Amino acid sequence: MTMTTKKLSIRDLELKGKRVFVRVDFNVPLDGSRVSDDTRIRETLPTLRLAIERGARLVLASHLGRPKGKVDPKYSLAPVAARLRELLGKPVEFASDCVSADALAKSKALRDGDVLLLENVRYHPEEEANDPEFSRQLASLCDQVFVCDAFGSAHRAHASVVGITKFVRQSAAGLLMEKELNYMGRAISNPDRPFVAILGGAKVSDKIEVVQNLMKLADAMLIGGAMAYTFLKSQGVPIGKSLVENDKLDLARGLLDEARSRGFRLLLPVDHVLAQSPDSPATKIADISDTPEGWMGLDVGPKTIELFGREISKARTIVWNGPLGMFEKPAFAQGTLAMARAVAAATAAGATSIVGGGDSVAAVEQSGIAEKVSHISTGGGASLEFLAGEKLPGVEALTDAPNSGKDR
Ligand code: AMP
Repeated sequence: MTMTTKKLSIRDLELKGKRVFVRVDFNVPLDGSRVSDDTRIRETLPTLRLAIERGARLVLASHLGRPKGKVDPKYSLAPVAARLRELLGKPVEFASDCVSADALAKSKALRDGDVLLLENVRYHPEEEANDPEFSRQLASLCDQVFVCDAFGSAHRAHASVVGITKFVRQSAAGLLMEKELNYMGRAISNPDRPFVAILGGAKVSDKIEVVQNLMKLADAMLIGGAMAYTFLKSQGVPIGKSLVENDKLDLARGLLDEARSRGFRLLLPVDHVLAQSPDSPATKIADISDTPEGWMGLDVGPKTIELFGREISKARTIVWNGPLGMFEKPAFAQGTLAMARAVAAATAAGATSIVGGGDSVAAVEQSGIAEKVSHISTGGGASLEFLAGEKLPGVEALTDAPNSGKDR
């Protein structure tokens, strides 16, 4: 069982009159100089508003894109400052270099409740190198108080996530980070049972550790999407032209053997929607054992939807990562959309549901049930590492809560 030490929360901090360095995830899509999707900014508003109400002087930092350690106006956070101003309904000061005399002066000029946003931390190669001197310079912009609300970056040991914590007195989780840790932490350490994991998507290799870890924790696992074919082929099932990772067949076979010997419920698709290519308009449905040569499986079929749906309807905890088919194309979206509806129905009946990973989040949003799952994880890579049982450096680096004990 994975134990996570409870971490200090922003709610525990004395913030009035202090410059507080908040690492946020403002890695948003831009359309020229406009933010085209402000979800990530809006998700941090509860943390920012709490800090503002408590009289903190906020210094916000984030990365955006991959400018590779160089100044590149394409990845400027200036458009984010403009959008944040609108969302908060108050001025947001901007410093065009995160470590500079200007940034320091602007941080010192802040009054209680004021907000300063720093330019992209990845303009400096020292950010990703977790450089101590750069971390110290970032820390000099605050009064020994650091808050991390960037769950999506918590699997990266970077300066503004991990390095800075060595140079401040207190490092706390923001409200968004805390929510992620509560939901995901509970699922992997103390879930209501049955606990059902749904895994899909294209690559087994990305999720092998997740499968291994969740097999220890969950009561059942439903595997769909292209990754199912690596498992099926490892059992000698003909899979036609379906996507497969031939170098992962042994691993897949090993996992299935383990599941069998332990009596673990690992369910694979029993039928699927086939086409000769993803762009071909002609599709057909067949049992897995009847896959014709030259056809590829691009979605789970109706029998699988029913089989998986039955497991989901019994679940009390559901973790879902990865679509069950090539859902971007309407002809192959039915399985994923049906799963989304099943997860929503189970949640309405009292289950806790957690959806993570960019594509499954997109699928949940597309099916219009985003409001009906308990928690949508904001961090794709970070949530996968968390579910794989790995410790996230950005979480480990936070200060332990007083009298936290060793569990949550
Ligand atoms: P991942 O990034 O591993 O979660 O994979 C997500 C991608 O897997 C999506 O773009 C889906 O279109 C794709 N995918 C899911 N099922 C299949 C399938 N049966 N065949 C091909 N691609 C698939």
